[in-house]
Amino acid sequence: MDPDRVLEGLDPEQLEAARALRGPVCILAGAGTGKTRAITHRIAHAVASGVAAEQQILAVTFTTRAAGEMRGRLRALGAPRVQARTFHAAALRQLSYFWPQVVGGPAPTLIDSKLQVVGRAARDCGVDTDRTTLRDLASEIEWCKVTQVRPADYERAAAKAGRTAPMAPVEVARVFEGYEEIRRERNLLDFESMLELTAAMLAERPEIAERVRDQYRYFVVDEFQDVNPLQKLLLDAWLGDRDDLCVVGDPGQTVYSFAGATPAYLTRFAAAYPHATVVRLVRDYRSTPQVVRVANEVLKRGRPAPGGTDQPLELLAQRPDGPDPSYTEYDDEPAEASAVARRIAALIDAGTPAREIAVLFRTNSQSAAYEQALSDAGIAFTVRGATRFFDRQEIRQAVHTLRGARQGGGGDPLAGSVRPLLASLGLTPEAPEGRQARERWESLSALAQLADDVAVQRHRGGCAAPGPDGAPPRPAAGPLPETCACGRPYTATLDDFVEELEARVATEHAPEMEGVTLASLHAAKGLEWDAVFLVGLTEGTLPIVYAETDEQVEEERRLFYVGATRAREYLAMSWALARSPGGRKGRRPSRFLDGLRPASPSLASGRRDRARPGRTVRCRICGNTLTDAAERKVARCADCPADYDEALLERLKEWRRNTAQRLGVPAYVVFTDATLQAVAELEPSDVSGLSRISGVGAVKLERYGEAVLALCAGEEPPAPEEEGERDGG
Ligand code: ATP
Ligand code: MG
Repeated sequence: MDPDRVLEGLDPEQLEAARALRGPVCILAGAGTGKTRAITHRIAHAVASGVAAEQQILAVTFTTRAAGEMRGRLRALGAPRVQARTFHAAALRQLSYFWPQVVGGPAPTLIDSKLQVVGRAARDCGVDTDRTTLRDLASEIEWCKVTQVRPADYERAAAKAGRTAPMAPVEVARVFEGYEEIRRERNLLDFESMLELTAAMLAERPEIAERVRDQYRYFVVDEFQDVNPLQKLLLDAWLGDRDDLCVVGDPGQTVYSFAGATPAYLTRFAAAYPHATVVRLVRDYRSTPQVVRVANEVLKRGRPAPGGTDQPLELLAQRPDGPDPSYTEYDDEPAEASAVARRIAALIDAGTPAREIAVLFRTNSQSAAYEQALSDAGIAFTVRGATRFFDRQEIRQAVHTLRGARQGGGGDPLAGSVRPLLASLGLTPEAPEGRQARERWESLSALAQLADDVAVQRHRGGCAAPGPDGAPPRPAAGPLPETCACGRPYTATLDDFVEELEARVATEHAPEMEGVTLASLHAAKGLEWDAVFLVGLTEGTLPIVYAETDEQVEEERRLFYVGATRAREYLAMSWALARSPGGRKGRRPSRFLDGLRPASPSLASGRRDRARPGRTVRCRICGNTLTDAAERKVARCADCPADYDEALLERLKEWRRNTAQRLGVPAYVVFTDATLQAVAELEPSDVSGLSRISGVGAVKLERYGEAVLALCAGEEPPAPEEEGERDGG
């Protein structure tokens, strides 16, 4: 690709970074300013201008998902062979490759969770532990390993760093020592040892260091504010005495100091490399001015980030206006979760794709209430940070099945052949009930979706309506037909798909899951969505109860900043006063909301509404003007008693289930729960009454109007065949 073309679409500062192709480069900038974008273009520029070959570039990102996204963007920029990996993935690859030569014997077993081994070590030391203590012990051991603290030094180091040890420091040190012994005896490798061993291998074996350094000559590290000493050690080992290193980060987004990371490597980069090119970005391209204002307020109120400048950074919004962020208080957690689910349903109804919506929380345990509320509302979701995609049992089975099918029919057309194969593993047309079954179903359907995406991607060139990346746009929800809208069949085969899968398994590149994302604030770093719900914003949760020192509270504030800056347009912040319905309403809203939210929650919704044009809708029961989208939909305040016909709602839901199944789409694509409930409440008797219900647009009226009106009139809906004919005509 033409070197200048890959620089298109960068602003002057981003250009400066992307043009600085040799030597150390540091991009220091706030959230959403295009850091990740700048480095991706810089890499493509280096490749296009011949400064580095694709295979010689190692781009290190924070999560496997971020690595996957970067590979996608690099592919679009004409550099598909650049290695974009996490520190762990890169280390594991090198270590496994050189293991036979360096150590020999059986390769060690990788352990994901330390708990079992820590438990064993604790018992051996005669230390009594429950599960929580075990977790805390495991965290302490991790902290020691990433900060390179040996058992003998733990007591001193922990005191100096202000750690709160889960038990007497001497005991922690003994368990740590025991843990390492067991680990070595059983030939187990944890994530930290993996990095440590790789770095040691490079330090002690010059001939291996030479080979690795010959392979990788050009380094880029994203999210550098959260690098820990162990990762830095490995990075230095990779570099040797060279300096083609570009680092990018935002000290204001440092959220892993508790685990031993430090922004000092970022903030002192220019001191370590006096000849470095340093670029600062301030234009925020991600979020609306309304969201940016929240981010700036949060930054202003916080203390300067560790090692950052005293002057708080101020982001300059570049996008057009959007809705005002909302601040909503609820009586209890289930009420908060179901209201959030209703607002999500309304957003989906209004055209926001589910995968562009996220619910972010401080601790993983908050996830369950939202999983439940979204399930109840018939909204698909995916939980981030759960078991890694390709490690899930159903996905392993699926990959196995697909490999098997390839023996017999590798040349079969891809479109239409994957879903039937996955059906035997539980891919039904509609999502099943129950959390476990549902999770299984969601991952299988992500795999089926991936097959469709691969078929579409390979079907380029000469297609009537190519999209921005040269591939034709993917048809709306549901399985892919055998031919494209341009009239030609999709040509990708099962072989192509299995090949793509093998490549993804090797690089742990999970497919995008259809559905709303549920994630912790930590896992959301670097990502973005159109709509973000920051939930559970109470004292004790954010800041988390064990954040005691000023520094710990500041890290919590930065987490809030990370959360708010994930939103492109909609930002909804909420909290609940009690844990359960009827419980004591003793909670206080997070201190981070002070000065941000309007004085009273009702004012918040009033403001929100002013920005949104539309007709006035009043509550049918009490006559109040309604502002909340979900309330407007049912024409009733959330607090006023519902007066819908329950039997009718049941019949509507049953009809929806059958219809969704027949069309092979998720139920909410037909109608959301909120819309069906509104229908059951309003019982429209004619087309015009039905069309006034929000969520019933022209297309749905045309498709399902007759059936819904029949159900409201207490009649049977017309037979599906007739409906199908109408769909076609
Ligand atoms: P974070 O700190 O959250 O990781 P970031 O600085 O890495 O943010 P990016 O993710 O690179 O920011 O960019 C944020 C959004 O702004 C992306 O959607 C990106 O495509 C867009 N963007 C970045 N730079 C530009 C630009 N010059 N013109 C238009 N859009 C841009
Ligand atoms: Mg980024």
